[in-house]
Amino acid sequence: MDRRPWTEHDFIAGDPCLDFLNTIGDTGKTRTQEHLVDAQALDDWALARGLISPDEAPASSSRELAAVLTMREGLHALFASIARGEANALAWEVVRGDLAAALAVSQLAKPSPAMLTAPRLPERLALAALALLHDGRVARLKECGRCSWLFLDQSKARRRRWCRTEVCGNRARVERHYRKRHGPEPP
Ligand SMILES: [Zn+2]
Repeated sequence: MDRRPWTEHDFIAGDPCLDFLNTIGDTGKTRTQEHLVDAQALDDWALARGLISPDEAPASSSRELAAVLTMREGLHALFASIARGEANALAWEVVRGDLAAALAVSQLAKPSPAMLTAPRLPERLALAALALLHDGRVARLKECGRCSWLFLDQSKARRRRWCRTEVCGNRARVERHYRKRHGPEPP
């Protein structure tokens, strides 16, 4: 798979941790389309999201990438459960060690935007997850009605259903239209 440029469509979650969880996806609930194809892709993503500065790159080794991808799927299981209103103790156990390790190397930063930071990207990502877990914003956490992407619904009416209306919203609309004309069975 090729590396691709990151655009604003990759940063729709309203939170750095959730944007990180959305670096893999699919048209449905499976997570097979990997966008963090190598350590360079991870660095590019982190740069675009402002989690590392240009003078820190290259930041990630391929070993770190592997660890980060494992952590990402653990965190996705946890936050997807939270979005469904479930307390997934098993998912918490899986990521707790990563978050504790990040806290162990964390440093107190300036009060804005985050109080805690860490020398390296994997720990910064873990601290972003920790911040979200402790934050009232998590009440706005939702999973896309079609795919596995997660986001904070910042809309007033809290009726946001899709990660990206032009992708998942559009696919759902086309399907509804098809069912109306041809009945419930796909071809
Ligand atoms: Zn979606």
